[in-house]
Amino acid sequence: MNQVAERLVPFGESIFSTMSRLAVEHKAVNLSQGFPDFDGPDWLKEAAVRAVQSGPNQYAPSPGNPLLRQKLSQKMQRESGLQYNPDTEITVCSGATEGIAAVLLGLLNPGDEVILFEPFYDSYPACVALAGATARYLPFQLPDFMVDWAALEKLINARTRAILVNTPGNPCGKVFSLEELAQLAQLAERHPHVLFITDEVYEHIVFAPARHACLAAQPGMRERTLVISSFSKTLSMTGWKIGYVFAPAHLTAAVRASHQFLTFCSVSPLQAAMAEVMDRLPAYVEELAGEYLQRRDLWCSLLEEAGIPYRVPQGSYFVISDVRSLGHQDDVQFCRWITQELGVAAIPASAFYHTPGAGQGLVRWAFCKGLDTLREGGKRLLPLRKS
Ligand code: PMP
Ligand code: GLN
Repeated sequence: MNQVAERLVPFGESIFSTMSRLAVEHKAVNLSQGFPDFDGPDWLKEAAVRAVQSGPNQYAPSPGNPLLRQKLSQKMQRESGLQYNPDTEITVCSGATEGIAAVLLGLLNPGDEVILFEPFYDSYPACVALAGATARYLPFQLPDFMVDWAALEKLINARTRAILVNTPGNPCGKVFSLEELAQLAQLAERHPHVLFITDEVYEHIVFAPARHACLAAQPGMRERTLVISSFSKTLSMTGWKIGYVFAPAHLTAAVRASHQFLTFCSVSPLQAAMAEVMDRLPAYVEELAGEYLQRRDLWCSLLEEAGIPYRVPQGSYFVISDVRSLGHQDDVQFCRWITQELGVAAIPASAFYHTPGAGQGLVRWAFCKGLDTLREGGKRLLPLRKS
């Protein structure tokens, strides 16, 4: 094993693989790994079949299918009022996972620092390590996952290359408000050497009164922000792995430099299928948000019935519970136990923290499941209820 691979050893196996395997082993209702147990729309599958049958089936241009990039540019303009040139400022990649890797590998030098909020999505610290850079961690303040602004400012120094913001957030369900985004923009003004990376894969799973907004749309931020997102969650097709990155041309050049040698291009018939259906997105995402609201509310009511405390998420498809008040101090043990004994799998959220002891007792439930699956999960958790 070389030095680069050795840097990844401390990260061990992804918690998503561990818990999904345990769920299968124990025939548990799998609310651990965040993938829908239903597929995206038939019209999307039909577009994919057409694309596979008639092509393109050879490599796409490395930056992405030109029509898809044009449609992505229109989407961004419509939703955030921001203009991106499809030729020089938009890159299609193999899921947001590759987008994150391409951005971090393209931007970071050994010795650079990246600030990550805790709890974080698991690939951030791993990709920072791959790049030979150092992650600095800032826990959100519980119970409402608020930003400690003074502590954030204190973490910034001359080595700080970027701050990574995930909104709507996995696993905490936090949606940065416009005020918080404005505060980040003010912070940016005070520290002109710092770049911002936003991960917005849950951009269309947001519950009113929360609203998703792009940090890049704040004054002065477009030129120093890289926006990463993907169709995995929006179209309930996590296996398609089509992601995209918006960034000003000089930063896009860095992203494309690494993207070119990571995957060269994402699956070309699926890119073509996405391009074909993009005009249906505005109506479709409204429906999607309504369906997720129903799932969120059902899952929260089932947790209530089982006597499990929870925080109502503003966005994403995850709910966080602190199970310490139920007498369970160790979330890892708790999640193993409920998978094996009650037949419900969830993620121990301490896996999303680096700071020792942080996140203890936090459990993440994924509610991207059919209503009957959620009802069955809720029923199986009822023995936890204290009479
Ligand atoms: N970022 C976050 C916050 C996620 O939850 C996920 C998981 N889907 C990803 C990135 C990766 O997305 P993709 O499936 O497009 O690779
Ligand atoms: N994003 C998904 C989650 O948070 C998992 C993705 C993966 O398995 N890598 O559960």
